[in-house]
Amino acid sequence: MSFLFKAVMKKYLRLILEILLGVCFVAASTLAYLNYSAKKHLVAEVGELTEQLGEAKEALEKMHEEEPAADEHAADTGTSAQELDALKAAFSNGVVLQDMELLYKAQKALSPERQVGMASVRLLTKGAQDEGTIAAFQKALEMAEWGNRLQTVCAAQNALAAAGQKVKVLSDCKKSAEKEDAHAKKDDKAHDVHWGYEGDNGPEHWGDNFPVCGTGKKQSPLNIVGPFEKSKDVLSVDYKEGPLKMFNNGHTIQVNVEPGSTLTINKESYDLLQFHFHRPSEEQVDGKNSAMVAHFVHKSKDGKLAVIGVLLNEGKDNAAIKTLWANLPPKEGVEYLPEKVSFNPGSMLPKELGFYNYEGSLTTPPCTEGVQFYILKKPMDISKDQVGKFPFKLNARPVQSLNGRKINAGG
Ligand SMILES: [Zn+2]
Repeated sequence: MSFLFKAVMKKYLRLILEILLGVCFVAASTLAYLNYSAKKHLVAEVGELTEQLGEAKEALEKMHEEEPAADEHAADTGTSAQELDALKAAFSNGVVLQDMELLYKAQKALSPERQVGMASVRLLTKGAQDEGTIAAFQKALEMAEWGNRLQTVCAAQNALAAAGQKVKVLSDCKKSAEKEDAHAKKDDKAHDVHWGYEGDNGPEHWGDNFPVCGTGKKQSPLNIVGPFEKSKDVLSVDYKEGPLKMFNNGHTIQVNVEPGSTLTINKESYDLLQFHFHRPSEEQVDGKNSAMVAHFVHKSKDGKLAVIGVLLNEGKDNAAIKTLWANLPPKEGVEYLPEKVSFNPGSMLPKELGFYNYEGSLTTPPCTEGVQFYILKKPMDISKDQVGKFPFKLNARPVQSLNGRKINAGG
């Protein structure tokens, strides 16, 4: 490394590290969304990146303590800069930035950390040529205290680990997790899992790390109960047969879908990204849960999310689910493509598309709002035996407050 490069790197080391931390924060707080929207490659990239953060964090702290002695750390910066370049390439088409902006738009007040995160992504997308972007990033940095850098890094790493990414967890993160673990006196994987459905990681604690889950006013799922308003929405579904791709993300079994399957709501087209299951159903109808529910997640060109819910009541064997359960992924966190198995998601749907509709949120952290739900009135059957074969005993968020929302009925 040339002297000049070293000097330049040293000058920008802090900035680079701040960007990396910002990106990690975004990753941690939008991880569920990235998984939802099939941007798993990004999760993987950020996963690799966080491994560098151990050194980065220490270097940053040393720089605060002993500004002049930072020279020895300049060497680390080369790697961080390369990582940053790789990340930049992943962000360069601007799709992620667009998604983030849409996601955060609904929230009037962003936390300073989120603003740094957004500014980081903007910087990575638009590049350092744009002076306005740089100024905005620096402003966001000034506003944020970043006192809890370690917390941010740990949150990112734990979230990535929970999503099945191989992440070397920082020793400091392990320490604090072990402390919690000793508290809980449980020797299972709990310390790697950032959120779950029971105990200290359960839904009532999601808000600690994902604020919208705690304070959002349009959260899902709901207890569906009348009186209903009449909906004029017209749904039409055009799902195509394609190769079966199964994914266990640690929270559910998800079936990833090739491009080409669509849902049309009135005249707007939404692509089917994936569908997944909850046991029992997250939604209630007149206060009652079904044995399970399948959620079909769709996204429009401008990033709006729409979910079709198919309630599964205990009854006859479900032929489509028989195919799916016969091909459950052997490993968590790795997409599984059984050879020569094709599947049509349409085989999961009833013929009649009558629905209950409401505006809600992702039912998993970060509980982002602005998601349209269409829960089909007509349930499908699933046998008791098939319910028993689903690998997750409990993965349903409890019903949330209506907060004055209207439930519409249509179709
Ligand atoms: Zn779901």
